[in-house]
Amino acid sequence: MTKNILSVYPHPDDETFVSAGTLIQHIEDGYNVTLIIATLGQMGRRMGNPFFANRETLPKIREKELQSAAKVIGINDLRLWKMQDKTLQFRDLNLLADWVLDVIKEVHPEIIYTFYPGYGVHPDHDTLSAATVHAVSHLDAGSRPEIRGHAFGGKGWKSFRKPDIEIDVSDVIDKKMDAVRAHSSQSELITKKMDELIKENPEKKEEILDRFIRERYWLYRFDDDSK
Ligand SMILES: [Zn+2]
Repeated sequence: MTKNILSVYPHPDDETFVSAGTLIQHIEDGYNVTLIIATLGQMGRRMGNPFFANRETLPKIREKELQSAAKVIGINDLRLWKMQDKTLQFRDLNLLADWVLDVIKEVHPEIIYTFYPGYGVHPDHDTLSAATVHAVSHLDAGSRPEIRGHAFGGKGWKSFRKPDIEIDVSDVIDKKMDAVRAHSSQSELITKKMDELIKENPEKKEEILDRFIRERYWLYRFDDDSK
């Protein structure tokens, strides 16, 4: 039986910036990864550098970039909901949860990657992760997949606990950076600068890539969890 992982993110590139290395490692370990991306990132502030996108072409471009990144990572089950960026918080949370639950019941993931509700900074991040947690809460305590949420800010962030899991992805960092590069409309500014720095200081490659090498997760615990 195949072992499955589910990733649930609102924007094309969330999957790569948050968890590309982890997902690559899972896939190398024989897991199948299903990726839900709820929106097309239509409201992304970056349009490429120099600009190669505009408000009208951006969604198509970002969809293509996502498909390329997914290919690099090794994801062959991509679920694009094509919702409007920055609107998830105005949708019915139960409906979003039902959609996530349908996919959970279909693929039976061992682990779910998403943002950590309340600490995802962007309302889309917090809404979709809350819907994901809500979906999982419908399952019996003993049969719930582990939820690994990524947190990076928000109210009470300074006093939030340290990550429960920190994954070193240096063994797959080149592949991860290829996925980052695939999201070129959003990442070109960053990758160009980094590539120049690495070229000038090859011995500092690990230091320069530090923020990409460690992927951090916080486990979501339900009140009735026995673990
Ligand atoms: Zn995002």
